[in-house]
Amino acid sequence: MEIAKRTREILRENDLRLKKGLGQNFLVDTSILDQIVKVADLTEDETVIEIGPGIGALTEKLAQSAGKVIAVEIDQRLIPVLEDNLAAYDNVEIVEGDALEVDFDQLAGGDYKVVANLPYYITTPILRRLLEEGFNVTEIFVMVQKEVAERMVAQPGEKSYGVLSFGVQYYTQAEIEFKVPSSVFIPQPKVESAVISLKTLEKPRVEVIDEDFFFKVIRASFQQRRKMIKNSLSKAANINLSREVVEQALEEVGIDSRVRGEKLSLEEFAGLSNKLYRLKKEN
Ligand code: SAM
Repeated sequence: MEIAKRTREILRENDLRLKKGLGQNFLVDTSILDQIVKVADLTEDETVIEIGPGIGALTEKLAQSAGKVIAVEIDQRLIPVLEDNLAAYDNVEIVEGDALEVDFDQLAGGDYKVVANLPYYITTPILRRLLEEGFNVTEIFVMVQKEVAERMVAQPGEKSYGVLSFGVQYYTQAEIEFKVPSSVFIPQPKVESAVISLKTLEKPRVEVIDEDFFFKVIRASFQQRRKMIKNSLSKAANINLSREVVEQALEEVGIDSRVRGEKLSLEEFAGLSNKLYRLKKEN
């Protein structure tokens, strides 16, 4: 049966009204589901964690390619539906839980990939959690809003370049795999989507003395992205640096103090924040 029809039928039979607040936009296009599984490039000895399986359309495809699929769903109404729809697969484990809380490593018990059509309201906290908390995740393949995907892969000087670009590119090799129109979801979201792949790096792309300070410097530089870097940094309350220290650091690392933060690369921010950190300690 056609997948859109089958999805509507399952929702009707189970008397389920989709919850906008949980980002419930279900994929109803077989070729998009197949493309996601293809880019995830799964083998039979791999474990996949799926965040938000919904009624299991993607889960079923994942189960046909991976060794094991652990599907974490927050909406308890969907658990019996998932159990029913996936009863034929003995390599699927359905977990009722919040992806912002569960211990992925404990669930997987080894390395794993994460594949998901993410609930968009938690895209950033989920990705931050996966990348910053040192989980054993090797690669992440997720559907996100197209604009968010563009921000993740943006390069210096591009319109979408910002704090999210640094957060993602510091930890991963990020790529937009393909764009997805809103017509392939029930209900249709207002925005277009894209599937992005994030391959976690062995170690962060650049070496920084203090990660927290590094990201504070980046946030300060982008808070007023139209300003020259020397002004945004010396006026930022969260890093508390004098104009002299900012100017000295910029000069010593060879960055023009009139440049805007949006023109600087990850490497340049690493050099600058390390220099600022040292000067701050000395003063
Ligand atoms: N995978 C299905 C598909 O592609 O059709 C559904 C995707 S839908 C965009 C997002 C799913 O994530 C929903 O089933 C929703 O209930 C679930 N969800 C929302 N917040 C969650 C959370 N914090 N933890 C786990 N699942 C969550």
